[in-house]
Amino acid sequence: MTEGGRQRRASYRLLIATLWTTLLVLAVEVVSGWASYSLSLLAASLHTLIDSFSTVLSLVAVSSPQRTLGREIWGHGRAEVVGTLILIASLGFGGVSLLLLAVQQMEASVQGEVGPFPVDIELQVIQLILAMVIITLTVALFSGYQARRLLSLALQLNTRHILQDAWLSFALLGGLWGIRRGYHWLDPILAIALVILAVRSLVRVLNAQLPMLLKPTAIAPEAIAEIACQVEGVTRCTRILSRGMVGRQVWIELHLALHPDFMDQARQIGEKVEGAIRERYGPIRARIWVEETHSPYLQSPDSSASENPQKRRQETDLN
Ligand SMILES: [Zn+2]
Repeated sequence: MTEGGRQRRASYRLLIATLWTTLLVLAVEVVSGWASYSLSLLAASLHTLIDSFSTVLSLVAVSSPQRTLGREIWGHGRAEVVGTLILIASLGFGGVSLLLLAVQQMEASVQGEVGPFPVDIELQVIQLILAMVIITLTVALFSGYQARRLLSLALQLNTRHILQDAWLSFALLGGLWGIRRGYHWLDPILAIALVILAVRSLVRVLNAQLPMLLKPTAIAPEAIAEIACQVEGVTRCTRILSRGMVGRQVWIELHLALHPDFMDQARQIGEKVEGAIRERYGPIRARIWVEETHSPYLQSPDSSASENPQKRRQETDLN
């Protein structure tokens, strides 16, 4: 097996372990939240649902063979888009229901009544949630360590998200402890805060992992062509694709036609073009195909060298 294949498999296994852990936490939060009538535990489960989705996206990125090592997340398929829409719909429904219940519960406790969702946290629930936090953090720290070793962006993104959430888990534990001590009004307040944070977290996941959904064309092709044609030896720049978000990460594909005299410098010219685009637009990953201009004065964009059977093609994949 190749080195790349081994690394991809290792990332994949770690992400599967993370996914199972997250699903276990989700199940514990839903069941114990329901059993204790705790809105805050149910709200936390919404967040955990987003985390599971985030892990699934990373898995898709890593397992897809045309995406090298999960470093590149080129072109999301229909399944990811449908999954995102289903997730947003269920979060919307769950979030709104929880907010309504939380408001009713707060009104009831202000009036000194019991309310529709009388929370009661057993000590075992707190112990169970604490165990889940410890397991999650252990898995996250281990995958974070491995992510650096494997240079897997998908794994790194996923781990960073889980570690950023750690403080939330401790806030939840503190809240549950307070509720058990008799501060029942903590439950709806914590639930509202968690629902708001779940929305923020969803935006974060979509931003980090679905840049293509948000911006299918990151940079105008004409702007890229203009930069490329300023490099000496380039006569034409065609078939330009770009995805991602400018400033964060942009994936670019383009074809360069070179003057025949410059064909021996194809690689350096490709690097120069990539450098010039990076200087202007920040982090990019470029895949550049280089071919000889059929005739130095050929300017028609459609008579590209791809029809020429004797074209010389060279691919530079830098970074
Ligand atoms: Zn999260």
